[in-house]
Amino acid sequence: MKTNTAVDAARLSLLLSALRLPAITAVWAQFAEQADKEGWPAARFLSAITEHELAERDRRRIERHLAEARLLPGKTLDTFEFEAVPMISKAQVMALTAGDVWLEKGANLLLFGPPGGGKSHLASAIGLALIENGWRVLFTRTTDLVQKLQVARRELGLEAAISRLDKFHLLILDDLAYVTKDQAETSVLFELISARYEQRSMLITANQPFGEWGKVFPDPAMTLAAVDRLVHHATILEMNVESYRRREAIEKKRGPGRPASHATPANIAPD
Ligand code: ADP
Ligand code: MG
Repeated sequence: MKTNTAVDAARLSLLLSALRLPAITAVWAQFAEQADKEGWPAARFLSAITEHELAERDRRRIERHLAEARLLPGKTLDTFEFEAVPMISKAQVMALTAGDVWLEKGANLLLFGPPGGGKSHLASAIGLALIENGWRVLFTRTTDLVQKLQVARRELGLEAAISRLDKFHLLILDDLAYVTKDQAETSVLFELISARYEQRSMLITANQPFGEWGKVFPDPAMTLAAVDRLVHHATILEMNVESYRRREAIEKKRGPGRPASHATPANIAPD
């Protein structure tokens, strides 16, 4: 009898790995022992181990999505002080992290504000929360992506390169306005925006709202067409705050008092 159980166990390990069920392979023996001891019905045992496999799969998938997303390390919504950007509603941002309302229809999110205002932090943190909610995200500096797409264009693979980005429900383009003049001479960014229009979402950060985008695209007509597509279905968050780093530095210099997190623009004296 004992030998039969051992043979069953050995066979089961082989069968489970042939079926690619690593989580069940790892836990079934322990669950089986408990089930035998407590007299579980067979269905309960089976559902316990399959639930375990599914949960493990979800965890591994999110891990993969985190690895591919290239988010900024350490920038989370928990570490983002919403008090520092009073014009932004935390509730609105939290609602965006559910994803379904806007990512399903390929709507966009635009973050504007001066350097140091927290655009990259907030963009990456939103990306992280979306991944945790099951979406796929890629964070990239706009100039880096434009450079890659230019290489693809030279090798006649622009369309394919843009299609490969389709797997990401959200493409975060950080610092759009930093695209350089020579990069603007090709229309790869425009092609990307056109391809994703109403299909796949983008989150774009920029120091300058649309006025300065003329230097990002080859000509005014294309700039207008790009802006038109971006804003057609978009949420725009303006983060017009003083640089967070500068505010922190000023608070430090002033010594103990109100912590930086509770400072308001009114109690930061100009230097
Ligand atoms: P931007 O992209 O707008 O230039 P960053 O997101 O790079 O600004 O912010 C500059 C630094 O200040 C980063 O280290 C960021 O984590 C921090 N920071 C900015 N705003 C906030 C905030 N509201 N709460 C916490 N940290 C912030
Ligand atoms: Mg930034």
